[in-house]
Amino acid sequence: MSARRRKARLNFGRLLMALVFVLLIAFIFYKFTQSVYDDFIEKRDGAGDLVSQDAPPRGAPDGGVDSADGGTDGAGDGTDGADSGTDGAGSGTDSAGDGTDSVDGSTDGAGCGTDGAGVGTDGAGDGTDGADGSTDGAGAAFEGFYYFEADKADRYAAYAAQNPEMPPGDVVWRVNADVDRPPYTDVATITDFSHPLMVNKHRRLPDGFEPAGLVETSSGQRMTQDTKTAYEAMRDAASAAGFRISAASSYRTIEYQKGLYNRYVTQDGREAADTYSARAGHSEHHTGTTIDLIGPAGTLRGFVGTPEAAWVAENAHIYGFIVRYTEENSDVTGYTPEPWHVTWVGADIAGAMRSEGIGSLEEYVVKHVDHRPGE
Ligand SMILES: [Zn+2]
Repeated sequence: MSARRRKARLNFGRLLMALVFVLLIAFIFYKFTQSVYDDFIEKRDGAGDLVSQDAPPRGAPDGGVDSADGGTDGAGDGTDGADSGTDGAGSGTDSAGDGTDSVDGSTDGAGCGTDGAGVGTDGAGDGTDGADGSTDGAGAAFEGFYYFEADKADRYAAYAAQNPEMPPGDVVWRVNADVDRPPYTDVATITDFSHPLMVNKHRRLPDGFEPAGLVETSSGQRMTQDTKTAYEAMRDAASAAGFRISAASSYRTIEYQKGLYNRYVTQDGREAADTYSARAGHSEHHTGTTIDLIGPAGTLRGFVGTPEAAWVAENAHIYGFIVRYTEENSDVTGYTPEPWHVTWVGADIAGAMRSEGIGSLEEYVVKHVDHRPGE
């Protein structure tokens, strides 16, 4: 081999090593940015807070601590409570394994990937990009909506910057509904109990609250008279269509929920308890207008994906019920989908939500209660 060829081979070897080195560095850098990105998404979306109100999430601690429904069902431990609240007429055990996955805020996470995309393209002041922080333009776009609230202008701009793909109208109602704030922050205690009574992670009922006029169903479930009448009509219609549904859980007291939640805090700490148990005052079941439904399987998780669940999703509005926690609204409500958890809001509201494509009670309240079209 000539000296020249040997030298060439040596150079080639060096080049190869350099290439491998560069690839290695690039890979390490990629992994680093990925983890920073994931971290950011998780923090911003509060993914950890998307928990079920009624049944343990997949892989919940000790496989069976139920949440807002006040019990320790799940994972076949046999203790019901999932649904029974104080009346003990609950539904049986949850299987805890077959639930739907948390949506985990992926809808707005998607927008994040386009970070900075708006930075260079702005200047038009149309407010739709938001990412460039052009508050003037953004403000102008937000003001056009009848549910715009001037004192929230900064929050609109900040939320739009985090969600550059989101239409400005969605930014406005979501901020009005406190979707931009972490769960259980800036909590308001409800003082106006007029219909529709909305309870969520930012709005709690006062201690001692009890809905007026609770009545009992034949199976011993307590709920308001309107709710009972509507429930029985829905149940009978389902039956006529060949689907068997029944109420597994309805009203439960704040005191009951408080004891339950505190027990979990003692047991697992507050942070962990918050991932599977609703805080007292924040459960919709306090209102007397909420029912957890079961089908032939006899459990909440067993209701998921069944023909009964599909019938309810399609027809509940006719009887004035809404499926309160859906896959589409999980980033608004902070709960994973619960196809079994229906809330009576009346046929007018349920019908309007359906015809207008309003996917959550939060959005409805912003657009039709706190503000009214044409204002
Ligand atoms: Zn429920």
